[in-house]
Amino acid sequence: MSEGALSLGRDMNNSMNSRKNVARAERLQRRVDAGFVAKQFPEVASIVISMMYNQKGIQKSLPRTVNFFPSSYALFRVDCLSKDCSEGGFDLTQVITSMIKNHREATKGELSCEGNSPSSDHSAIAYEVAIQYAQNHVLA
Ligand SMILES: [Zn+2]
Repeated sequence: MSEGALSLGRDMNNSMNSRKNVARAERLQRRVDAGFVAKQFPEVASIVISMMYNQKGIQKSLPRTVNFFPSSYALFRVDCLSKDCSEGGFDLTQVITSMIKNHREATKGELSCEGNSPSSDHSAIAYEVAIQYAQNHVLA
């Protein structure tokens, strides 16, 4: 169905839209590839990422919280909020995967945005991750 949308016009606006569509399709594909938390990590009951988002040029840091449940996609990525940032974001997949492997319940750290923005240090997060494990899960 995106083919129809792509062939609608040739002006600048439309090519920008189709680029956005491609980016959106890629994001969607990443989700599908990641699968659900319940399937990837059946022992996990919930994951909470709490973070302070800091953007260059903005004085105040912004608190954000992201929750994951067994029905969520196992894609632990947080978007960058900078307008000029493309392909940016914070990937906590490594952090969370290794936490689950070690059955850890809490950790904290910092990440910089991995996007291609004019300034490389335009945004960063200080995060805390809390994982709850299913009570009835028997450790292998
Ligand atoms: Zn960014």
